[in-house]
Amino acid sequence: MKQSETAEEREDRIRQICARLAAAYPDAACALTHANAFELLVATILSAQCTDERVNMVTPRLFQKFPDPASLAAAPAAEVEECIRSTGFFRAKARSIIGMAQALMTGFDGKVPSTMEELTTLPGVGRKTANVVLGVAFGIPGLPVDTHVTRITNLLGLVDSTDPVRIEQEICDEVPREDWTLLSLRLILHGRAVCIARRPKCQQCVLNTLCPSARSLS
Ligand code: SF4
Repeated sequence: MKQSETAEEREDRIRQICARLAAAYPDAACALTHANAFELLVATILSAQCTDERVNMVTPRLFQKFPDPASLAAAPAAEVEECIRSTGFFRAKARSIIGMAQALMTGFDGKVPSTMEELTTLPGVGRKTANVVLGVAFGIPGLPVDTHVTRITNLLGLVDSTDPVRIEQEICDEVPREDWTLLSLRLILHGRAVCIARRPKCQQCVLNTLCPSARSLS
């Protein structure tokens, strides 16, 4: 928070940040190709340390071979690993998605649960992944905090922390619930296109008059 900023000014600044991001990224949407909550959950786990484009290249074949929790739960690890190899960390990811599918079969009747508490009991599923699934698959507002959201909310002076849980709590306290999911998606797009790590394009940034970090980074 800027030293001299009043609560009212801060509220207004946050409102403007959300509005400008909405205008800049009107079509923000989850870029992971999926047909249902199960596919989104798998794709989101695979997207760790990997681009969405790369994940979208491997998931059609993966879902063709293992289209539901039952088939993935019974899948040989080597076959899954072979399908997802190019996403990196493929052994750990194969373990996670097979374990996740097994947990769906044993604990949730083969269905993806729709609460944060239940989702985060699944192997490989943390708050970020759970928030993606809640927001995108179930329309339940959530604020996934990834590296872009962490960096930009700090640069904007909205938070002063690298702890994703704390960032999620603090931003959710100040932003209307219905905006959480899209705000996260828009910050991620902004982080890829403009507020790039270590070389932000402040001159071109729609937030530059609202950002306390703009001048020093230009
Ligand atoms: S003004 Fe610069 S530092 Fe601030 S959000 Fe925009 S690109 Fe990032």
